[in-house]
Amino acid sequence: MIICWLRRDLRLDDHAALYHALKQGKPVLPLFIFDTSILGQLEDRHDSRVAFIHHTLQNLHAQLTAMGSSLLVMQGTPEDVWKKLVTQFKIDAVYASHDYEPYARHRDKTIGTLLLENNIPFHTCKDQVIFEKNEVLKDDGKPYTVFTPYSKKWRAKLNPFYYKSYPTETYFSNLQRTEKFDFPSLAQVGFKTARFPFPETTFTPALLASYKEQRDFPAIAGTSKLGLHLRFGAVSVRRLLQQSLNQSDTWTNELIWREFFMMILWHFPHVVNQSFKPDYDRVLWRNNETEFAHWCAGTTGYPIVDAGMRELNATGFMHNRVRMVTASFLIKHLLIDWRRGEAYFAKKLFDFDLSANNGNWQWASSGGCDAAPYFRIFNPSEQQRKFDPDEKYIRHWVPEYGTAKYPKPIVDHKMARERCLAAYKAALKPE
Ligand code: FAD
Repeated sequence: MIICWLRRDLRLDDHAALYHALKQGKPVLPLFIFDTSILGQLEDRHDSRVAFIHHTLQNLHAQLTAMGSSLLVMQGTPEDVWKKLVTQFKIDAVYASHDYEPYARHRDKTIGTLLLENNIPFHTCKDQVIFEKNEVLKDDGKPYTVFTPYSKKWRAKLNPFYYKSYPTETYFSNLQRTEKFDFPSLAQVGFKTARFPFPETTFTPALLASYKEQRDFPAIAGTSKLGLHLRFGAVSVRRLLQQSLNQSDTWTNELIWREFFMMILWHFPHVVNQSFKPDYDRVLWRNNETEFAHWCAGTTGYPIVDAGMRELNATGFMHNRVRMVTASFLIKHLLIDWRRGEAYFAKKLFDFDLSANNGNWQWASSGGCDAAPYFRIFNPSEQQRKFDPDEKYIRHWVPEYGTAKYPKPIVDHKMARERCLAAYKAALKPE
């Protein structure tokens, strides 16, 4: 029997690892492990991401059951679970998709060794990206650290070979025929129903056609809201690219940004804790707790910032333009360490993804690989005038805006700007 271990590739269609597993001709059993070392770190028992995983797995389980197969769902640390599995089943091989985060790399190394000790080959392959780690490199073989040349090379290298679908359905007859395994309830996994409804995704030719013009306006539903699905592989990136190519260069570019930050995390894992450019870790942050609390709650007195934070707190989503504005405000207006904001987003965002969240926070802090220059300080009022000219977005999220109940700005823009420039200049001056 072959086990196909699903992690951030929660689907059966166009699935590279499942395809390769099924093609071997032996019965294939799909497995998912609720990893208690990850779940144990989540504070919110209503965590919507866990609910989404559970919901998606439930659908997979139903699809598999309809084909006379089943999904095996286990709970525990991957190491403990695999120790059990190798004694419970006669396993010929294990297939899984590559995972690029530091924790996942360590996990896969440990499990690979454990399997090898039991004479079980562990085959892993690319699935969640078009180009991974070392596939798009500079001519000298080094990784890119600037987006534009990376994206040019990415596009130059692209051909249909890289985004053709894996027709898993051709081999579904090789799925393990088995009794239906018990499928745990969300409560059995230790969680409760999602705090927020899952975001409604829109990925239509019409959305792609208007994406370039509409994507920057938070009052318009102009983006796909596919982040969560991409994060957990509930959709195939190849299928998305097949649709976006020739339809929206701009949307395709966002997929390239996603892969750029994954590639950065792979080659430069220090970014998880430090600025890509070490000099930027010398900035003396003020880290005022009261101001941080105002930022989190959306009561800074800057309506676009407050609207964004309230949208995040109420839905688990925030529009990209507003993510940029709120991040910049925290870092540059309040001089609060970007890692505090990054952690807050990680806790709240439905579509939280380490590489994208970290890469974008580093961008906003100016210490990232291809970051905004430190003297680029968004003026929140200008951003609002430009991207929410009718005040539709801010009035939706900040109903008391314009009344006496709305707080005064916690910081003066001009003063904050100068304070920020001085703090960055002091940090970056040669020693
Ligand atoms: P669309 O605009 O429809 O884009 C399609 C997909 O492209 C997204 O779902 C995402 O997978 C990818 N993408 C788009 N923009 C970016 C980008 N700048 N960087 C990397 N990938 C991108 N995105 C995340 O997926 N997870 C995060 O944790 C995350 N944190 C962010 C934090 C900050 C401070 C900022 C400024 C941006 C962050 N982003 C993050 C990027 C971006 O804001 C979201 O991907 C996007 O808003 C999700 O909405 P959508 O699915 O409608 O995206």
